[in-house]
Amino acid sequence: MEKSIIIVGAGMAGLSAGCYSQMNGYRTQIFEMHTTPGGVCTTWKRRGYKIDGCIHWLTGTKSGTDFFPIWEELGVMQRCSMIEHEEYARIEGKDGKVFIVYCDINRLDQHMKELAPEDKDVIEEFTNGIRKMTHFPIPWEKAPELYSPMDRLRIMRKMLPYMEFWRKWGEITIQDVAQRFKNPFMHEAFPFIFNLENPPDFPIMAVMKTFAWMDQKTASYPAGGSLELARTVEKRYLDLGGEIHYKSRVVKILVENDRAVGVKLADGSEHRSDIVISAADGHTTIFNMLNGKYINGKIRGYYDKLTLFSPLIYVGLGVARSFEEIPHTVTGIDFPFDEPVVIGEKERSRLSVQFYAFDPTLAPAGKTFVRVHFASDYDYWKKLKQGPERYEEEKEQIADKVVALLDRRFPGLAAKVEMRDVATPLTWVRYTGNWRGSFQGWIETTNTLRLRMSQNLPGLKNFYMAGQWVQPGGSLPSVAMSGRNVTQIICKYDKKPFTTTVPN
Ligand SMILES: Cc1cc2nc3c(=O)[nH]c(=O)nc-3n(C[C@H](O)[C@H](O)[C@H](O)COP(=O)(O)OP(=O)(O)OC[C@H]3O[C@@H](n4cnc5c(N)ncnc54)[C@H](O)[C@@H]3O)c2cc1C
Repeated sequence: MEKSIIIVGAGMAGLSAGCYSQMNGYRTQIFEMHTTPGGVCTTWKRRGYKIDGCIHWLTGTKSGTDFFPIWEELGVMQRCSMIEHEEYARIEGKDGKVFIVYCDINRLDQHMKELAPEDKDVIEEFTNGIRKMTHFPIPWEKAPELYSPMDRLRIMRKMLPYMEFWRKWGEITIQDVAQRFKNPFMHEAFPFIFNLENPPDFPIMAVMKTFAWMDQKTASYPAGGSLELARTVEKRYLDLGGEIHYKSRVVKILVENDRAVGVKLADGSEHRSDIVISAADGHTTIFNMLNGKYINGKIRGYYDKLTLFSPLIYVGLGVARSFEEIPHTVTGIDFPFDEPVVIGEKERSRLSVQFYAFDPTLAPAGKTFVRVHFASDYDYWKKLKQGPERYEEEKEQIADKVVALLDRRFPGLAAKVEMRDVATPLTWVRYTGNWRGSFQGWIETTNTLRLRMSQNLPGLKNFYMAGQWVQPGGSLPSVAMSGRNVTQIICKYDKKPFTTTVPN
């Protein structure tokens, strides 16, 4: 008889684990606390607009590149149309200069040299680094736990040409490269190249890899946005015979004799299965659903020491203008203010804004969904929430300030704003359960570039984890891969060949 699997969470990782488990003859059901699939990969409606809460780019959208087969197996490539941009971002200076981060490497190289001819050497080192990363192999096909000596040898052979490159760049951060520019504008603009309020040790290699994907045109935006993407994978899962129960919060993983045997929901009901996979928040899974019983020093160390992606303040605006004149970019336009402004808990001197005119499904005809997001402090918002009025007031003030700042840079915008929505770090916790509002788990740093986490917990049988809390750096392809990997591990344990299918 086929074995049963319960999956906690219908984010991309849970949906992926569900699809691959169904492909391999397991009987699965997903328990999801929210009313929609996707987890953080989501979109919500406000006054005729759709606020896209997630995706800038989906890696693996070009045939023949890493991750592409996963998106084919999950039915994404067959159903979603992809949008390419020529520009990754625009970074503006106070003096009117603009650094256009082109997706095409040659164009980027030429443009950077035009802006800063005196920095020819550092620019060439950087763009050659991107070129080199174009062929950097990502071993996505198989769970590392299942590598045979031959697999290891094959991977080592593929990595060999990168050893010297890794030695040279592995410890280098965005800030290190920025410091090397003599040109004052590039020196100031380069740290914003990745549109993240990065920790000081964010590795330049991760930037190079992303820009290599951009150049290869394998990191596109799926038209329709994040929820449409999640719904596509949800459909694939349902077509494969899976079941999803929404509004079903899991509060406990049921364990008997150190074996996971099912889950208990917030409504008190208990559901049994042969195997449990948690694709929900890692901290809640380990410390609440399992009471911290199955842990070792290594796992505790992740939660005590690794740096989280900072949670976000997310301002969505519906603007009754087409913004045809604004160039389309992957992540947006980053612009400075004349004077720093206190927004939320701290003083800020720049904002990054994205105009979604390239995706008309997000706004009524002739209008545009516009988004600004920036990192914020979880504890600040938690404290504010103790006085609910202050919390709401702060959200209003943030919207006022953001609209005023945008209006200064894009005159006339404020008068056309007809929808405002502010999500805070607590919004992410409420709707997705992610620990301290982190939207993508642990951020990659120079120290975690090579870190691989186990998808098991010590001492607990028939239990696995998938998603952004077992893959530092998160992201859609890596969590979809972790759902695939976990199924491979289960198949191996059950002595079954792992198989995949591709829908029409
Ligand atoms: C603003 C933003 C921009 C991003 N941009 C990109 C991008 O451009 N490209 C990219 O590749 N990635 C991007 N990401 C990251 C990517 O979306 C995430 O890494 C990925 O979607 C995480 O998927 P997951 O399934 O691991 O986790 P989640 O999406 O967090 O899913 C976990 C699911 O578990 C559910 N859950 C939690 N607790 C329980 C419980 N107790 N019971 C039942 N269900 C529960 C949650 O409701 C949720 O549905 C972005 C994320 C954000 C927020």
